[in-house]
Amino acid sequence: VTTFLGKTVALFGLGGSGLATALALKAGGARVVACDDNPAKMAEAAAQGIETGDLRGLDWSKVSALILSPGVPLTHPEPHWSAKLAKEAGVEIIGDIELFCRERAKIAPNAPFVAITGTNGKSTTTALIAHILREAGRDVQMGGNIGTAILSLEPPSDNRIHVIECSSFQIDLAPSLAPSIGVHLNLSPDHLDRHGTMELYAAIKERLVAKADFAVIGIDDPMSRAIAVACESRGVNVARISVEPLGAKGVFADGETLVEVTASDAAPVANLSGIGSLRGAHNAQNAAAAVAVARALNVTLEKIRSGLRTFPGLPHRMEEVGRIGETLFINDSKATNADSTEKALKSFDTILWILGGKAKEGGIEPLREYFPKIRKAYLIGAATEEFATTLGSAVPYIRCGTLDTAVEQAAFDAQALGTPAVVLLSPACASYDQFPNYEVRGNRFRDLVRALPGLETKGA
Ligand code: ADP
Repeated sequence: VTTFLGKTVALFGLGGSGLATALALKAGGARVVACDDNPAKMAEAAAQGIETGDLRGLDWSKVSALILSPGVPLTHPEPHWSAKLAKEAGVEIIGDIELFCRERAKIAPNAPFVAITGTNGKSTTTALIAHILREAGRDVQMGGNIGTAILSLEPPSDNRIHVIECSSFQIDLAPSLAPSIGVHLNLSPDHLDRHGTMELYAAIKERLVAKADFAVIGIDDPMSRAIAVACESRGVNVARISVEPLGAKGVFADGETLVEVTASDAAPVANLSGIGSLRGAHNAQNAAAAVAVARALNVTLEKIRSGLRTFPGLPHRMEEVGRIGETLFINDSKATNADSTEKALKSFDTILWILGGKAKEGGIEPLREYFPKIRKAYLIGAATEEFATTLGSAVPYIRCGTLDTAVEQAAFDAQALGTPAVVLLSPACASYDQFPNYEVRGNRFRDLVRALPGLETKGA
């Protein structure tokens, strides 16, 4: 990116996207001085030819911008020290998405650019949109908050579609974000530690759709509905998304049927039944949004339907690992709190539930109404005693200690059950008492299940 050709920029935060940004700026002729709290990250950047150093030693009057990683606190509770320095010197603070936007404005202002945000479902919707477009033969670059850093992707061009997941932090750092299609899925209290209030959080999310040429907005929570109404009244072209029937233009889910509503017509356009990777009402919202985007990009209904059908889903989010007879094995390791686990418990009827780890506040108390669906619970990790107390006499449970034992026990019990059932890893807990992160936990589950005798996988 040549935005800062011949200029000096400071960069704080050398995670994956930070390093990619530093390299892209340097390749575009900027002098980049990069810093991170972690000396190992500094060394890694230095090894790749990036100038590293303490930003406090810079002459800030000569610095053109501070590039901040989205993980670094900016708004709340305390601005990061690098942000304070930049503010005092009147230096703009931006992130990698902003750099992409400026580059796009310069080299391909009409390049299709789909940006996706929301509290939940961002990654699923982003991956689904990219999948449908690819299946339809389009040239797609997917990244941002999901996977590849935006500046490591191929540059924008008129025949290439960028599909970019944006966290609220990234939107906050991208003042000129104006995608050709903006998607906002939903809002629920999250990240309030960082954004301070729900109003501020909503205002940040609203910016992504308010400046889009075409906005796809979920209206199933009050604040998102308000965003849709505000955009419409400002003349933004909006497609509403809902899991309830719609009276305005958009796509809604009538159970598993997606219905498209236009100015003159309402017609079913796709059906989600039997699509394992898109189970549940929350995925109906994601799929409806993806359909609205694909329609706006002139993908045929036939291609949209086949894209939905072949979507493999994302790992660790209600991922179908395989079956043994009538038992389905589901990896929902990403469910690190009761809210996420609720979506999985809602989606199945007879459940052998593997749960536990490092409990969040409130534990599994909010899941009580689903206890009748649980045939047995297999407790692992630090939360074992707390969860055993909550389950009490309502659900039979066993203390398994490890995930390995839990899988072995649950698979054994499932076979003895003789009815269709789901062995579900949906821990409602963080993983770090036993695993480095939820991915490692989910991969372990997948490996254990794949090693079970008689397992059939879809691809096999
Ligand atoms: P994000 O990228 O926003 O974190 P993901 O697509 O990774 O979202 O989904 C994470 C979890 O959030 C899923 O496992 C599911 O429990 C829940 N989820 C997914 N989509 C939605 C949605 N549209 N509304 C509410 N919850 C959702």
